Amino acid sequence: RESAEISLKDIDHLAKSSFPLCMRHLYDKLKEDHHLKHGGRMQLGLFLKGVGLKLDDALAFWRAEFSQKVGAERFEKEYAYNIRHNYGREGKRTDYTPFSCQKVISSTPGVGDHHGCPFRHFSEENLRAALGGMGVGNRGMDDIIDKVRNRHYQVACTLTFEAVHGSSCDAGINHPNQYFIDSQKILQS
Ligand code: SF4
Repeated sequence: RESAEISLKDIDHLAKSSFPLCMRHLYDKLKEDHHLKHGGRMQLGLFLKGVGLKLDDALAFWRAEFSQKVGAERFEKEYAYNIRHNYGREGKRTDYTPFSCQKVISSTPGVGDHHGCPFRHFSEENLRAALGGMGVGNRGMDDIIDKVRNRHYQVACTLTFEAVHGSSCDAGINHPNQYFIDSQKILQS
């Protein structure tokens, strides 16, 4: 899914207003730890590419965080290649596409990983806290948790979208980038 170009300075604001929980979590962890493991870099990196972050801005974005943790030199040596690779500028020059919900939900994050779908991979306690942080109130919360208990993760995400935006999402959420685009449509109208 394509959308308009976004620039570096917009990301912080967009993360709060229009990122689905899976990406918001990765974004917050990146800001907190100045680091993400491979699975998280792939999931968030390809999502950002999908929302319209150009390669130069993507490099600046990751460099700003990682250089605080590993230093600018190690960033260039060990991480910049993979970012260019995701944009099809290295290796086989495949243009990698952002992950669908199905792919994110079926991933298997290990200890220290922050990728995956919070509706599937968080404990109920952590999920409630994260949803509260997105502005979901008590009434909406119980409906969402009910869907999660029945393993309807995308339905739970759709209800979250509706609670956060105060607007229905008839198509349902099936892709993190679709969540972003639909959110922007509502917020910009
Ligand atoms: Fe992300 Fe999809 Fe899970 Fe929502 S349902 S948090 S968009 S993977």
